Formats: sequence, C-alpha cells, structure tokens
Amino acid sequence: MFIAIDETKCMGHGRCYAVAPELLTDDDEGFVAERGRCWEIPADLVGEAQDAADACPEGAIVVTETAPADA
Ligand code: SF4
Repeated sequence: MFIAIDETKCMGHGRCYAVAPELLTDDDEGFVAERGRCWEIPADLVGEAQDAADACPEGAIVVTETAPADA
C-alpha cells in the first residue's frame, strides 16, 4: 500500500501526525513534513495510514494499493 499527501491541500491542521506518529511528522510550521510525497508503507502501518487519511479534514491524504500515476 502507498500513502500520498497532496501538498496543495494540506492546511496544517495537524490531525494526521497526531493519529499516525509512526508514519508522519510535523514541520516547524505545523504542517505534515511529508507533504508532497508518495511512498510505500509497511503492512503493519496501513491502519495508521488509513487513520491519518480519515483524520485529515482537507482530504489531502490518500491510501492506495498502487502508487498514483503522477507520484
Ligand atoms: S491533517 Fe491534513 S491538512 Fe492537517 S497537516 Fe495533516 S495532511 Fe495537512
């Protein structure tokens, strides 16, 4: 599974890294530091990734089986 974070949608609410601390971190301004990235996630962190996607009020986080074509 892959996680992709759309940097144009991220508004820095900080909910994602609060619910997925093993996967995501915050930068100095409160945005998720991994915004704009897409990467493969280990199986044991898929649940956490989905929690992060569900927690983001901007819909900036997508969890998919394959990497998005434009990633
Ligand atoms: S919850 Fe969404 S908007 Fe907030 S920091 Fe995470 S990705 Fe950005």
